[in-house]
This record gives sequence, C-alpha cells and structure tokens, in this order.
Amino acid sequence: MQLYNSLTHTKEEFVPNEAGKVGMYTCGPTVYHYAHIGNLRTYMMEDILDRYLRYIGYDVTRVMNITDVGHLSSDADTGEDKMLKGARREHKSVMEIAKFYTDRFFDDCRKLNIRRPEVVQPATGCIDDFIKVISSLIEKGYAYLSGGNVYFDTSKLKQYYVFHNFEEEDLAVGVREGVEEDGNKRNKADFVLWFTKSKFDDQELKWDSPWGVGYPGWHIECSCISMKYLGGKLDIHCGGIDNAFPHHTNEIAQSEAYLGHKWCNYWFHVLHLNTATGKMSKSSGEFLTLSLLEEKGYDPMVYRFFCLQSHYRKSLVFSYENLDNAKTAYAKLLAKIAQLKDDGEIDQTVFEAQKANFVKALDNDLNTSLAVTAVYDVLKAPANDATKLALLREFDVVLQLDLIEGAKALRSEQTVPTSAPDSDLAREIEEQIAARRAAKAAKNYAEADRIRNELAARGVTLIDTKDGTTYRIEQS
Ligand code: AMP
Ligand code: ZN
Repeated sequence: MQLYNSLTHTKEEFVPNEAGKVGMYTCGPTVYHYAHIGNLRTYMMEDILDRYLRYIGYDVTRVMNITDVGHLSSDADTGEDKMLKGARREHKSVMEIAKFYTDRFFDDCRKLNIRRPEVVQPATGCIDDFIKVISSLIEKGYAYLSGGNVYFDTSKLKQYYVFHNFEEEDLAVGVREGVEEDGNKRNKADFVLWFTKSKFDDQELKWDSPWGVGYPGWHIECSCISMKYLGGKLDIHCGGIDNAFPHHTNEIAQSEAYLGHKWCNYWFHVLHLNTATGKMSKSSGEFLTLSLLEEKGYDPMVYRFFCLQSHYRKSLVFSYENLDNAKTAYAKLLAKIAQLKDDGEIDQTVFEAQKANFVKALDNDLNTSLAVTAVYDVLKAPANDATKLALLREFDVVLQLDLIEGAKALRSEQTVPTSAPDSDLAREIEEQIAARRAAKAAKNYAEADRIRNELAARGVTLIDTKDGTTYRIEQS
C-alpha cells in the first residue's frame, strides 16, 4: 500500500518493521469535554486505515492513550490544565470528568463504527513509566531542571523541526498571543516533561517524583504509552494535523533521545474539518457534537459517509447543506441496495475485478472517496444481485457504512402496497408461507416461527385461518 508520510512529505510504499505485523499508535482524546465532529473525523479516518491494513492481511496492534492529565490550554505548555478547567466548569472532580467523557467518546466511536483499539491507556495509569523515561533523559543530558519543572533541551538535537522547514521565528512557541513566555526555558522550543511549579497551585492530580510533587507534560504521555505497548520501533503514528507541531515533534524528540535510534517510520496526519467561518471549536460558535447531529435527525452513518466521500489529506468544510447532500446520497444508496435480492451464484470474475478496483483506491494513500465510487460501480456492474451483495458486504468490512444492515432496515420499514398481488413481494410472501407450511409439517416449529418473525419485521403479518394462511401488509 502507498501511504503519504508527513515525515518525508511523500507517498511511500508501506513496509512495516516486522513482516505481516503493524504497530499503530493514535493520540487519544483529551477527556475534558465531548469530542467535536472534527475530532471524530480524525478518528474515523484512522479507523479506515486500521481496518484496511487488517483487510489486506496485517496483524495490527493499535494503541491509544486517553489524556486525563497534562494537556494545557495551549499546546505550548502554558495555560491551565484542560482537565481542571473541565472539572471546574461542571463542579466535579477531574477523575469524574475523565470517566464521563471517556465513556461518551467511546459511545460516539461505537455509533460511528470506529473500532476500539486493542490498548486504551489513560495517562494517569502510567506515571511510573513517565518518571523512568524522564529520569533517563536527564541522565543522558537531554533534559534539565529549571524553576522546579523538568524541560526537554531541544538544542541538544541535530534536527528538532522534523515535519516542516519551520522558521523558528514564525513558530514562537510559548509566546502566542495572550500567553506569557516561560522564563525557565533555555531555548524557546524547549518543552515541559514534568511540572512541579505551574501558575496553578490547585492542580488536582499530583504525584511524587524525584523532582518534587507534580504532574507530567502532555507530550511525554504519548511517547511512553506507545513505547510501553509497541516497543522502540513504531510503524505508524496517527493524529490530526494540528498535532504535528508541537506535540508530535516533541514526541519524536524525546522518544529518539531516549531510545538512541529512529522511533517511528510513518506519520499519518488527518487534515481538519472546519466550519465555513473557520476552525472548529468547543468553546465558541455551535459546539458540533455527534449527539447534536443525531438530535437534528442525522444518522451517525450519514456523517461517516460524508467524511468518507473526501480524502483525509484535504481539509473538509462542514455545513448542514453539505451534510444534507450526504444524507440524501446515503439514503438513495441504501434504497438501491435494498432492491437487490440474493439470487443465486456469485460471479467470481466480476467479484475479483470489482474488488481489485476497491483495493486499488485504498492502496493509493487510502483514497476513500474513490472507494465510495467503487461502491457505486458495483451497483452498475454487469452482474447478478448476489454478486453485488457479496461485493458490498466485502467492501463494508473496511468502510463500515452499514450498507447491508441499513438496506435491510430500510426494507423492513418500507410500506408495500397491498394492491399489488402480482408484485415480487406478493410472490415472495406466498413462497415464505409455503415454506412455513412445509416447516410445520416437518414439525420444525423453530423454522416456522423464524419465517413468521422475519415477515413481521418487514411489516407482513401472517393470519392463520381454518382455510389456510393469509397475510396483511402493515401501512406505516
Ligand atoms: P484532542 O482531544 O483535542 O486532543 O484532539 C483529538 C484529535 O482530534 C487529535 O488527533 C486532534 O489532532 C484532532 N483534531 C482537533 N481538531 C480537529 C478538527 N477540526 N478536525 C479534525 N481533527 C481535529
Ligand atoms: Zn499524542
């Protein structure tokens, strides 16, 4: 598979460290609030990558952290801890907030068919691991104590800005608007590994450490959790594009300083979902959550379909108008699939050709937009319905758009006109009634009930009379 690597700025053939196996790390959510649908776009595209790698035969181990401490309001180690802010907003403890929003995050993931990674590790569960790595970085001369905090010394690296040729001046880490510069740093780009002194004395969660009672910085969490579960050679690291700097840049700095060799081979960054007015936000404008979309009548699958229609390396503009278009297109797609009948043998030649088309799309840097086109191509293909259904079922292993289930649900919802005795449906019902009669004669009552229930789920009620079985089609 060809995958764009942010580290080399090119599409590369994906080759894992160990044949057949993939170690994949995902920056997890900061659980101080609901995820917005932008966050969920990133997790959904990472999910497609994860599922596609499995589909083409890799044994993937995916690890995700849960940031429940250390992520400050500014990614450049300044401002208040986001968790503390969330706890104060809701008059709850940090741990209560963390538990509540972690659960809500996975609710959203479940609704969007985002697989839960093999390992989900809250940062607060790994304090000893952070202390071990920070101690080693101090020993090796990559970190220093200043003003009570432990900092990573970026001047010790040959190259710190790995993702882009940043101009140091432009970055001005720590001196963003409204944020005071941290005078304890030796170099502007240095970042905190361990806080004991911060402007906020009331940090709720603190731990003992060789440098005093305090708490870890955000960046060290991901390095340590990744290395703990996936070892010192990581295949793929994922996240939203905003994480490339400073978060991932800092992760690389500290992990490679600690390990003494290259750490991660492929960096997968998802571009942002924006609103027409700009950046998506949890604190200003409409806070766009998945629940809000549901309240407004959008099935989560519509949002998944909306996201899959565009490539992960393009930023995407969210508007209700765009989502409505996706809703209509998704409904039409399901309606077409609902008309397909399991009508016999699968045509293997067509199956393989269409599958090759789908694989080609995703092999090319995970082009989900072309993969969705491949779904439409199946519907147009010169093949019988059984072949089409088999292909759609196959593609949905990766796409997870509930194509088959959604179409089935649609069929059972549809009102079928009673005045169509010669319709396909009437014929099918008669066949089912005959099959049920045969099952009963053979004393196979379970099968007879199954047929009755299946028809009932589709709005067809069977009525047994002394003269035989008739039926009624429910109008919705
Ligand atoms: P956070 O919970 O803030 O740590 O963010 C969770 C994930 O969402 C990270 O991978 C971010 O890079 C990503 N992210 C943040 N904002 C957006 C956005 N507007 N669109 C897509 N992904 C985003
Ligand atoms: Zn991270």
